[in-house]
Amino acid sequence: MTTHRPAPRAEFLRKRFVALRAERATFFSAPKNQPCLGRQLSRPTRLFRCLKSAPPAGLPRFRLAVRLLLAVFGALACLALASCGDLPAPPAERTVWVPSPNYNARRPNFVILHDTTNSEAGPALRTLTDPAREVSAHYLIGRDGTLYRLVDEEKRAWHAGASYWGGNTDLNSASVGIELDNTGSEPYPDAQIVRLLDLLKNLQERYRIPAHNVLGHGDVAPGRKVDPSRHFPWQRLAEAGFGLWCHDPAGTPVPLLADPQLALQAIGYDMADPVAARAAFRRHFLALDDAAESSVAEQELMHCLALEKRRKPTPWPAP
Ligand SMILES: [Zn+2]
Repeated sequence: MTTHRPAPRAEFLRKRFVALRAERATFFSAPKNQPCLGRQLSRPTRLFRCLKSAPPAGLPRFRLAVRLLLAVFGALACLALASCGDLPAPPAERTVWVPSPNYNARRPNFVILHDTTNSEAGPALRTLTDPAREVSAHYLIGRDGTLYRLVDEEKRAWHAGASYWGGNTDLNSASVGIELDNTGSEPYPDAQIVRLLDLLKNLQERYRIPAHNVLGHGDVAPGRKVDPSRHFPWQRLAEAGFGLWCHDPAGTPVPLLADPQLALQAIGYDMADPVAARAAFRRHFLALDDAAESSVAEQELMHCLALEKRRKPTPWPAP
């Protein structure tokens, strides 16, 4: 007669299985007031509090497994949300989630136009897609009218940088950025402008962007940026219904006490640097790069544009 004795390795595995099963049972039957156990982990705020706390005695392996799973999940979520590490988390303590179904994707309310300052589209496309350069735009339009799409419109492309327009201090969050393949010192080909007008019409129809919210980078970053250049056909855009414009400046006499700086501020310019704001205004509305003294005609134009800006834009954005 022989006695059955399990092999040492099999015995070790059996004991380990029994121990793990006991841990699992304890884990899922833990009382509600015991942190980091069982159903407590089903609440996101408690999960993260649990991650920060010391492991409870007797459950190191299960805690370790949970922490690893959460770490992997968090890393994947961060990869899915570009630059999520740049933003602080919303408040979690004393916050009650009451989810509402009444929302949709946020939509842009501005269009910002740029020059690539390159002589062809290839180098600009490489720059705008290079992670090390940290610049991008939603679209690039080539000289021949080819439309390149780089970033989804509902995403925040990095094209405007530090910017201001009419109180808005983060144009990247509110705009579609369009790069035009142009050196910044040459006329814009007709095919490129025709394609731009098609894109603007499409954006306006889908997002109801007010006509006067089509701007240049130089308008929203005066003193720092000068694109698009004085060659850009703002009047042609205005005749197609895009951008702020005044068709009869002389028909709006300037009040005696009118202040040019207040007029520029009313149009939307950042007046932290009045000289830079006026230079941006002259480039956009007079196609001039010089810094000559304001004439009466220029002041009439400023006043006319300020009045135009007060009009209710068409189409007005929906709620
Ligand atoms: Zn630019």
